Amino acid sequence: MARYTDAVCRLCRREGQKLFLKGDRCYTDKCAADRRPYPPGQHGQGRTKASEYGTQLREKQKAKRYYGVLEKQFRGYFGMALKRKGKTGENLLSILETRLDNTIYRLGFAMSRAEARQLVLHGHFMVNGKRVNIPSFLVKPGMIISIGEKSRNLDKIKSVIEANSFRQPPRWLDYDANALVAKVTGVPSREDIDMPIEEQLIVELYSK
Ligand code: SF4
Repeated sequence: MARYTDAVCRLCRREGQKLFLKGDRCYTDKCAADRRPYPPGQHGQGRTKASEYGTQLREKQKAKRYYGVLEKQFRGYFGMALKRKGKTGENLLSILETRLDNTIYRLGFAMSRAEARQLVLHGHFMVNGKRVNIPSFLVKPGMIISIGEKSRNLDKIKSVIEANSFRQPPRWLDYDANALVAKVTGVPSREDIDMPIEEQLIVELYSK
């Protein structure tokens, strides 16, 4: 399975905003996007004027990086979004939001989406009582997400849940913090997605 393996803080600096790819480090003064708020590389501090295409491309790259998805899969999601009723850009974000790794992150079971992806790959989570180890699995209304019986006693998972206990899960997830179980109650809408992105620019880019 292909994935991005280079230094992730470069991605935030390239996009000019924090994408929260490194978990707790993102909330400290070690954050590279805060310390060096300009693009990485030799010409990072030079002045650049983005073209229309450049602006659209940056928006697409931002969304891909935020959710940890590579180009081929992202295009696939765009195709799915086109087939759904409603605004394609919002459909696209909604689909990305329902990936199992993102859902696990939203529930506070991981410090970052990358960590959620690892935990899912290692088989720590169940959907409707069955182990699912596919980070791209899309959750649907009515599905029940839980932590595996053995996994819920792991120190690593317990400490992450404790550290994230202040986080509010989104409205489309009905989370029982005592039972560590969540039910998907709906489809994420645009208001449920806090990523500052202009999804319409992605639609324009792919419609060329
Ligand atoms: Fe991005 Fe987090 Fe690195 Fe800051 S610490 S640049 S938010 S990945």
